[in-house]
Amino acid sequence: MPELTLRSRLDTKSFLDCRIVYTQRKTLQLEVLPDMSVRMIAPLGTKTEVCSRMLLKRMDWVRAQMRYFSQFHPLTKPREYVSGETHLFLGRRQRLKVISGPTKDVKATRQHLTVCAGRTTSARLVEATLWQWYREQAADLFQERLLGCMVKLNIPKAEGPKELIIRCYRSRWGSMSPTGVLGLNLDLIRAPIECIDYVIIHELCHLRFPHHGPRFWDLLERVMPDWRKRKSKLERLTA
Ligand SMILES: [Zn+2]
Repeated sequence: MPELTLRSRLDTKSFLDCRIVYTQRKTLQLEVLPDMSVRMIAPLGTKTEVCSRMLLKRMDWVRAQMRYFSQFHPLTKPREYVSGETHLFLGRRQRLKVISGPTKDVKATRQHLTVCAGRTTSARLVEATLWQWYREQAADLFQERLLGCMVKLNIPKAEGPKELIIRCYRSRWGSMSPTGVLGLNLDLIRAPIECIDYVIIHELCHLRFPHHGPRFWDLLERVMPDWRKRKSKLERLTA
């Protein structure tokens, strides 16, 4: 039987698409996956109305699941890169000012991010210029915060991460590989410094305990007793 997609209203602005997958099983099962897609496993031959009713009945649960998973998804709202739009930098909401001129340049003042992408105001080039600048800011700042966090955790330089990699993860803020490579999400440059420190400290704790066992949480709690506050601040930023 072919797959079917049910569309249902998620909130006043958006819709939800639920994929129906027909299988040999006997009962209906609704799932929200970590990438926030929704699917329903249904017995072969189930009527569409039955699936629809089940989805409607469980919409509150679906919304709650999506909210839960959304906290792991860095903000990816579509941006237009035009003057007047607000963009975050270190937790501050700053107004974009697009200007044209001979040299590519980004300047941050208290309230503005002034971007010059050359003699053009092409959104694509403004975006590239701004993100290149974000990347440069992140390279310096994350390295500096990392050293500070290592001091907090009493990690000597020789025992710190072998390498710091900054990249665009889709669904995580940071990672620590078994070989000691620290990965930080470039998107963190838009978060307040206290949130950046929280992600770094969390990942550094993995140098001692690679998993999320009780000893890991004990250590995190000891070095950063207010980590929950910082974590929820970071999650609010992505809402
Ligand atoms: Zn972790």
